[in-house]
Amino acid sequence: MQLLFADQLGPHFELGDEVLLPVVKNQFGKRKYHRQKAHLILYALRSRGQDANVKLIELDSYRDLLHIDHKATKAVNPTSYPMRRLTKTLGLEVSEARGFCSNEQDWSDYAGTAKRLKLEDFYRRQRIRLNLLMDGNQPEGGEWNFDDQNRLPPSAEVLDVTGPWLPQEDELDVSVRAELDELEKSGAEFIGKDGPRKFAGNREQALAALEHFINHRLDLFGPYEDAVDQRSWAVAHSLLSAPMNLGLLDPLEVVAAAENAYRAGKARLQSVEGFIRQIIGWRDYVWHLYWHFGEDYVDKNELSAHVPLPSFMTKLDPDRIKAKCLSSTISDLAENAWLHHIPRLMILGNHSMQRGYVPSEVNDWFIDAFVDGTPWVMPANTIGMSLYADGGQMSTKPYAAGGAYLSKMTNYCKDCPLNPKIRVGENACPFTAGYWYFLDKNQQLKSNHRMFNAYAGLKKLADLDQLRQQEADRKSF
Ligand SMILES: Cc1cc2nc3c(=O)[nH]c(=O)nc-3n(C[C@H](O)[C@H](O)[C@H](O)COP(=O)(O)OP(=O)(O)OC[C@H]3O[C@@H](n4cnc5c(N)ncnc54)[C@H](O)[C@@H]3O)c2cc1C
Ligand code: SF4
Repeated sequence: MQLLFADQLGPHFELGDEVLLPVVKNQFGKRKYHRQKAHLILYALRSRGQDANVKLIELDSYRDLLHIDHKATKAVNPTSYPMRRLTKTLGLEVSEARGFCSNEQDWSDYAGTAKRLKLEDFYRRQRIRLNLLMDGNQPEGGEWNFDDQNRLPPSAEVLDVTGPWLPQEDELDVSVRAELDELEKSGAEFIGKDGPRKFAGNREQALAALEHFINHRLDLFGPYEDAVDQRSWAVAHSLLSAPMNLGLLDPLEVVAAAENAYRAGKARLQSVEGFIRQIIGWRDYVWHLYWHFGEDYVDKNELSAHVPLPSFMTKLDPDRIKAKCLSSTISDLAENAWLHHIPRLMILGNHSMQRGYVPSEVNDWFIDAFVDGTPWVMPANTIGMSLYADGGQMSTKPYAAGGAYLSKMTNYCKDCPLNPKIRVGENACPFTAGYWYFLDKNQQLKSNHRMFNAYAGLKKLADLDQLRQQEADRKSF
């Protein structure tokens, strides 16, 4: 019998036997999950449990498997350090991890010879190896990357994009909701708003979501990939991270569908290339980095950031935030348990780095508050990419940005009482002031040649003393 983990729910994880699938509801009592994340996980487990070859088992903890009688003898290698330790202790026969577009050997072939790990190099090897969007041995269209065409700010065209696929809630949603209500009564605490469910929770729904994205949204994915538009919560993003991370979709079938859409003339190359890069590039890259950097990478704190997370993040409460970009982002997260990449990186990540929030707290919060959050996906995205807490192992420079970036790539500033061009005084933008404050506090970054211009700018600020005082005294955003 195969022991199946909660993120291995699709057919590509089956080893051809009967399946034992644990439901560990107690985990929801241990941390403060977004209610919609808990709902999706429970829905997906219960839905998979209806299949004929699956035996559901209710446990208080995965470790109970050590003490109860069960017939599990094998598993597909799970996705986190603790679960891998568990399979060892249980003495299971473990087969190679699935659910990604490359394996350990592919990674060591790359990382073993690379002078410095670089997403772009890894991605090109993946394109060639998987023969995706290739024209012989050259990249389709003559370029590996069409990013320069993919940075449009929000515009009216965003509103023409067909909305994302959304599930029709069913009886299982009703019973899952009742189960979560019961858990709350017995002490579990959730954050964010309850439903309606917005993400695919079984294989059939995941395939429908994929088809809808490919046919209706992929074509405009590229140009608006980085745009944040308060009129459109999902812009042209796929919302497929949750079903992929639950194992309901095989990323290889997702990228094959995208390439087919390009070959059939249904989606432009710049969008298809950009989308495929996110999956065979970024998604696989951060997966391998989770193992490459090691289990204690989440404790890295190279910028000595010691401020606890503010309650507007831990409670997902936007009410007292003046900064429109931040309040809308927190409010959208409370509403949907999801944000696209730019609000995660350039609003929440950037804010957390500027304000020196404890990196491991930021990492755990992202895992719990986001519907697609997992232990393997987060460290490279938070500790590395967003917070620069690893001192540059992952990125060559911090992703720090002020209001100028946000006023270009979002349409929040026009509705904000603050001004992205002002850094000191009543109307000062906390992102602009925060940017300079961050540079000033972290003078060790000066030696990074990619930060030369930033520090040259800091040197020219005539009001730096005032700004320092203002930000040191800041109580709200
Ligand atoms: C601070 C921070 C936290 C993040 N947390 C998560 C998370 O919890 N789970 C998660 O899957 N992704 C996470 N990401 C990456 C990315 O933001 C999400 O994958 C994406 O927003 C999910 O929405 P989507 O499916 O519509 O993605 P799309 O924009 O449609 O992109 C397609 C797919 O590419 C993959 N992808 C793109 N970028 C990344 C990346 N940096 N890391 C991993 N996969 C990537 C995802 O599988 C995604 O579904 C995070 C990024 C940052 C900066
Ligand atoms: S002015 Fe600053 S705080 Fe306000 S929305 Fe723009 S970037 Fe955000």
